[in-house]
Amino acid sequence: MAATQLVDRFGRVIDYVRISVTDRCDFRCVYCMDEEMTFLPRAEILSLEEIYRVANAFTQLGVKKIRLTGGEPLIRRDVLSLVQRLGALKGLQELALTTNGSQLGEMAGELRRANVSRLNISLDTLQADRFTQLTRTGKLNQVLRGIEAAQKAGFKRTKINAVILKGRNDDEVLDLVDFARAQHLDLSFIEEMPLGVISEHNRAEAYCSSDELREMIEERYALLPLSDNTGGPSRYYRMQDSEIRIGFISPHSHNFCGDCNRVRLTVEGRLLLCLGNEHSVDLKALLRGGITDTDLQAEIVRAMNIKPERHYFNNAEPPQILRFMNMTGG
Ligand code: SAM
Ligand code: SF4
Repeated sequence: MAATQLVDRFGRVIDYVRISVTDRCDFRCVYCMDEEMTFLPRAEILSLEEIYRVANAFTQLGVKKIRLTGGEPLIRRDVLSLVQRLGALKGLQELALTTNGSQLGEMAGELRRANVSRLNISLDTLQADRFTQLTRTGKLNQVLRGIEAAQKAGFKRTKINAVILKGRNDDEVLDLVDFARAQHLDLSFIEEMPLGVISEHNRAEAYCSSDELREMIEERYALLPLSDNTGGPSRYYRMQDSEIRIGFISPHSHNFCGDCNRVRLTVEGRLLLCLGNEHSVDLKALLRGGITDTDLQAEIVRAMNIKPERHYFNNAEPPQILRFMNMTGG
């Protein structure tokens, strides 16, 4: 294989892969999962060895950044052994992790030592009772302890992710900003996406646009746009009197598909070319059919030809995408 860069039909270079290591989670966030969820049988999800082979193939093809996500990645048994192997991959510049923070109290130090460079921690509210309502099973204190452990372990530029829902936590936008400023954490607000059918709220009614949230913040703090581009649907701002960055992840209201630099590996081994479409290649079948590493790389190169140009999300319509976020990895 001569290719050292993945390029799709629209000339976009793909150098970032998000990997969902499990569909399971210790929380049941109202926008992500239904209260009663059926998870995949173990045989249907990629083994840690299979995930490693795919990650290795991607780094051979020029991928510089891998993010582990889920479900809750830190509740998969032996996940640290995978993290340690990925952290040693040649050519990988950034190994990041998105987590709900529940296990960080115990695991932050080991993750840091395994070369995880960045953490995103989800936190939608600072009120304990509301936290348990939004996550259905989570405890705020445990996550706050996790955040503290991450800071102590030496993680830099840790980012809080918050999904804001009208009538549930939209009154906490400024509290979250002040928390992030006090704790020296970056903070991103994510627009809710119509992934999977949920029962607890109407996504159209709960929808808060990034523009609304930005206006709320600008009533107290000036936001100065940054030119950083992560190749995703995010835009970042800084403040005059703080080093933290505030981001807005706007898959609905702003479309940045033209800059997309990423693909995803779902928990059952589908290489998913776009979060908002179903174009995918079944890598699990290839792996279990005995494919060689060289042919695996060739299949990944070929998959770039079906990466869609863009996605369309509309919370007012029945979801087009029936998979939940925990399958895909947010
Ligand atoms: N369990 C980990 C966590 O919560 O950070 C990682 C997986 S979770 C699916 C990744 C991110 O997706 C979280 O920040 C979560 O808030 C976000 N998320 C889940 N469902 C979403 C949805 N329907 N729309 C927008 N963001 C969503
Ligand atoms: Fe679990 Fe993360 Fe989904 Fe919440 S958002 S249910 S923590 S996977």
